[in-house]
Amino acid sequence: MQNAKCNNKFNRVLIVGGTHGNELTGIYLVQSGALGDLRAFSFECVTLLANPGAIAANRRYIDHDLNRSFNQTNSIQGQEADLARVIRDRFGVDGSEAVDVIIDLHTTTANMGTTLIIDEVSPDALPLAAMLCAQDPSLKVYSSWGSSRRDALRTIAPLGLCIEVGPVAQGTLDATAFKQTQTLLELVLQTLERINLEGFPSSRPAVTVYRHSGTIDYPRDATGKLSAMIHPDLQHHNYALLQSGDALFLDFTGRTIEYNGDPTYPVFINEAAYYEKGIAMILTTQVELPPV
Ligand SMILES: [Zn+2]
Repeated sequence: MQNAKCNNKFNRVLIVGGTHGNELTGIYLVQSGALGDLRAFSFECVTLLANPGAIAANRRYIDHDLNRSFNQTNSIQGQEADLARVIRDRFGVDGSEAVDVIIDLHTTTANMGTTLIIDEVSPDALPLAAMLCAQDPSLKVYSSWGSSRRDALRTIAPLGLCIEVGPVAQGTLDATAFKQTQTLLELVLQTLERINLEGFPSSRPAVTVYRHSGTIDYPRDATGKLSAMIHPDLQHHNYALLQSGDALFLDFTGRTIEYNGDPTYPVFINEAAYYEKGIAMILTTQVELPPV
């Protein structure tokens, strides 16, 4: 509560690792001391290892994906349902240690580079993302805009962000990805600090956002088994234009299955954790937002 008296825009920021227990980057960033002295900011920084049971088991989750457990109207049961209630009661808007911002650290097995995930329902999300992209033009911004999902851990705060870096294999540490995550996290914290001291700039720079527009599952047989793989021409090509007629999948006989639909920029291509969710990739629309 060190800043409770201040009129800062952001008074408390929660940094989360281990929402998925087999994504080691965020876990080790939080528990290793690599975050450095977090007391230098005008806001209080709190850290959380979100799913200790899954971390100990080196699994994404025990009973249910924790990052799909924060919709209060769903009726999931088990360890993650209980954890979600505890985390919301502590850090949610009416919680005992309510936070203004959540930065949730994730890795993906997809070749996504460094991605910031935002929810544009948070009015500060887009201005912040634009400030970050102006400082790091390599940063990609994926927005949940077209998705009705509000069940991620980050959604319990007024401003929720995920840092998603890949490709990283599940259950492994990758020093490059670790450094990329650390660098972006520091940039986010420094930018939040700048906003506390100076407010948001009067004008927002141009920013490119990839807005969720749908998902595609793998081709499957009648029993649910995969009948094709991501096509090698598409594998690793996240954020690249995919148009009708482009190669999408390759079946086990060597036949190419083409994409047929509106032009799109797929992300999370071949994400290992999404096989069980029936998602071979997430489709996005590339939106170039002019300065305002
Ligand atoms: Zn994750």
